[in-house]
Amino acid sequence: MADIIKLLPDHVANQIAAGEVVQRPASVVKELMENAIDAGASTIKLVVKDGGKTLIQVIDDGVGMSVTDARLSFERHATSKIQKAEDLFQLNTKGFRGEALASIAAIAHVEMQTRTAEDEVATHIKIEGSKIISQEVTVAPKGTSMMVKNLFFNIPARRNFLKSNNVELRHIMDEFHRVALAHSSINFHFYNNGSELFNLPTSNNRQRIVNIFGAKTNEKLVPVNEDTQVVQISGYISKPEYAKKSRGEQFFFVNNRFIKSPYLHHAILGAFDGLIKKENHPGYFLYLTVDPGSIDINIHPTKTEIKFDDEHTLYAILRSTVKHSLGQFNVIPSLDFEQDQNLETPYSYKDKSAELPRINVDSSFNPFKESSGSGTAQRPTFHKQHTKSWDSLYVGMESNLGKNSGFSSVSFESDTITGSIFENKKELIDTGTTTFQLRRKYVVTTIKSGMVVIDQSRAHQRVLYEKFLKNITIKEAVSQQLLFPLSLTFSKSDCAIIEEIQDSLTTVGFVFDNIGEEEVTVTGVPLSVPESEVGIILDQLISDYQQDFVVDGFSQTDILAKTLAKSLSVKTGEILDSDSQLALVNDLFACKESGVSPFNKPIYVTITEDDIDKKFI
Ligand code: ADP
Ligand code: MG
Repeated sequence: MADIIKLLPDHVANQIAAGEVVQRPASVVKELMENAIDAGASTIKLVVKDGGKTLIQVIDDGVGMSVTDARLSFERHATSKIQKAEDLFQLNTKGFRGEALASIAAIAHVEMQTRTAEDEVATHIKIEGSKIISQEVTVAPKGTSMMVKNLFFNIPARRNFLKSNNVELRHIMDEFHRVALAHSSINFHFYNNGSELFNLPTSNNRQRIVNIFGAKTNEKLVPVNEDTQVVQISGYISKPEYAKKSRGEQFFFVNNRFIKSPYLHHAILGAFDGLIKKENHPGYFLYLTVDPGSIDINIHPTKTEIKFDDEHTLYAILRSTVKHSLGQFNVIPSLDFEQDQNLETPYSYKDKSAELPRINVDSSFNPFKESSGSGTAQRPTFHKQHTKSWDSLYVGMESNLGKNSGFSSVSFESDTITGSIFENKKELIDTGTTTFQLRRKYVVTTIKSGMVVIDQSRAHQRVLYEKFLKNITIKEAVSQQLLFPLSLTFSKSDCAIIEEIQDSLTTVGFVFDNIGEEEVTVTGVPLSVPESEVGIILDQLISDYQQDFVVDGFSQTDILAKTLAKSLSVKTGEILDSDSQLALVNDLFACKESGVSPFNKPIYVTITEDDIDKKFI
């Protein structure tokens, strides 16, 4: 057989390598900004157009490159940062693979201008798809400007795979935040489509955090400091009461490099244990300094994961340091009660005694009494306890109960039931249903053949989900006008998301007066949304969008309906009066899909008389 193995030409090899290095415009931003930092820049400008698809430019005032270096820098494995394998274990630079520029030049139109302090003239190189188009002498200030245009121009599949400009911009902002947070002594500018998004002056870490995430962040921060032989830790955690539903602000930096570490993240969660609700996430900005010899950055091509020599020790130190800070700054309340597993941590419960869980039964229920009339005739009102402020989410769950004055009541009109999607539906209604609540978690109801145990929270999620979907689809949402416009502060990237999904939000009843850079003014909210929860719900929505990066209309609607349903549903631990229980049961079985929650979890189980009989044998 003839020989068939051939060496790939360089430009093909580069294009393949580019697949690893450059996933999207944000990857280019990261590589170019890191090169600028490695070049010792004190000012770095990032210019982006159309989510980075048409232009990404990074301008620095670093050391620049000589003519030869300028040309060499685009070769694969061309780097000034390491010379031998051992250097890998003493890395003080961001880059070291010598792959980035070669990869980027293989899949875009690149123009570089660069000049060192010693040289009088600068070098201007144009390169497209690995091919040098021109190299000229030019006049330019000391430093380097890298312009990357038309990313993936020669790989249509990759180009088509890119998300909307807004989504790509969000990824770019994430990278920008990471780099800027890790280097507060460098002055950064960020321009998007001609307007300045960020101007971050030289500062300390705290000011940098505040400059990026908004002035209100300052009051949330608790300093963390620890100096040990293994690691030096500095930075900030956010106070437990500011824990958010989105995972947004969680940053670990090791030797000024942003890293992801689920293991160390767990250490932080451990320190916050019992202080924040399970579904909330603590914010943190932690800067770790370790001996470069004790870490291996080489294990991941995009270098956000690193390997530590002694992870366990690091874990323990981190956890106790954060715990110590929480205690020192008096943000831990003394928790001296026994927690009800079903309830979240109520902060201001500390002086109250623990209550035993109990079954809440309808005291008027008489098993020997004939049912009074048909269930369909009733159009019960469903009472849901509404929290008045963010704090009250955690407290007073019990104390408000029974006082209807403090409640807003929301009516759920149960549709007339047609068809038989649910077998027992007719049964339920016909027999004049009796219900009771079990452990503030389940609603139990009888059917002819036995009983049904319904998860109250999931059932309500399903009911709300279908209701919101319907509203969105037929664009019939009812909005409730707020007496005073509500101003809410968000980070710039969060505001960008709200702007992006504004249309969908309007279809469910939100009305925005103004969506600014860091502030959103809400003048109307969906009918069932209490004013005090608007911020929380928007937060949740933002985080759901961030996680899913969904852009097409259908999924946006779906996410929106799911998020609203999740946020507004009754939760485990809430007591429902008998009217509410009945309404929930009726509404659930009027749903198109009464069996599973919007998150694909089973909603109820049926226990037949047979099942019960068997237990008595
Ligand atoms: P790496 O950063 O891994 O060394 P790159 O492909 O990113 O590889 O860059 C190749 C080389 O080009 C770098 O090692 C550096 O010497 C030079 N270089 C790249 N960008 C700059 C810059 N902005 N200023 C000065 N030199 C640069
Ligand atoms: Mg590099």
